[in-house]
Amino acid sequence: MWQLSENSRLGFRLAGSTLHQGFGAGKYLIGIGDTASVVPNPWLESLKAQQQSVAAQCPGCGDMNSAGAAAEKAALPLTQASVDAKDYHEYGGYILESKSNPDQFTYSKPLAGKETLVDIDNIKAPKGYNVVGEYHTHPRGPGDNREGFSTRDGNRYNGNGRVGYVADNNTRRMYVFVPGLTVNHPEWERTGDFVQKIP
Ligand SMILES: [Zn+2]
Repeated sequence: MWQLSENSRLGFRLAGSTLHQGFGAGKYLIGIGDTASVVPNPWLESLKAQQQSVAAQCPGCGDMNSAGAAAEKAALPLTQASVDAKDYHEYGGYILESKSNPDQFTYSKPLAGKETLVDIDNIKAPKGYNVVGEYHTHPRGPGDNREGFSTRDGNRYNGNGRVGYVADNNTRRMYVFVPGLTVNHPEWERTGDFVQKIP
């Protein structure tokens, strides 16, 4: 079982079977250079690519929180485009740790699932990486400012032992769920620990 050091909000990384505190809040946003391009019906494109997840470039992503923030930043414009098209697709993928350099993290480029669902288990992890976490978005219509994880999300992470990240397209506030540490509240009670707003 993973152990978490004192302050999970300051970023953490996975080493062996133990989560360690990472490099601090100052490193959260370093290296976020990926900008997702919005194309018509992007979820159709990514559904076709469901088996071919690709690791993003994430220079400076020295802990899981910074990789999570970069992943959400890439996924939120796609989510917004889906909401604008009234399709409400979630986007998501994996948080990855380099096998050759355990201090280097990144994410698999965001893929869309069926409506309001990311079918993470259908995504194949890129070679050369360990899957240490998951991320996804919540598509919200205008005026819907619910934040954080659903109870189902929390149950999932408690079940598979992965760290989860989520952000919604309206508030852009990112939350983390650490299995065994984060309290899973009833539906829509903002389950999760707030990390940062995605710029
Ligand atoms: Zn969710």
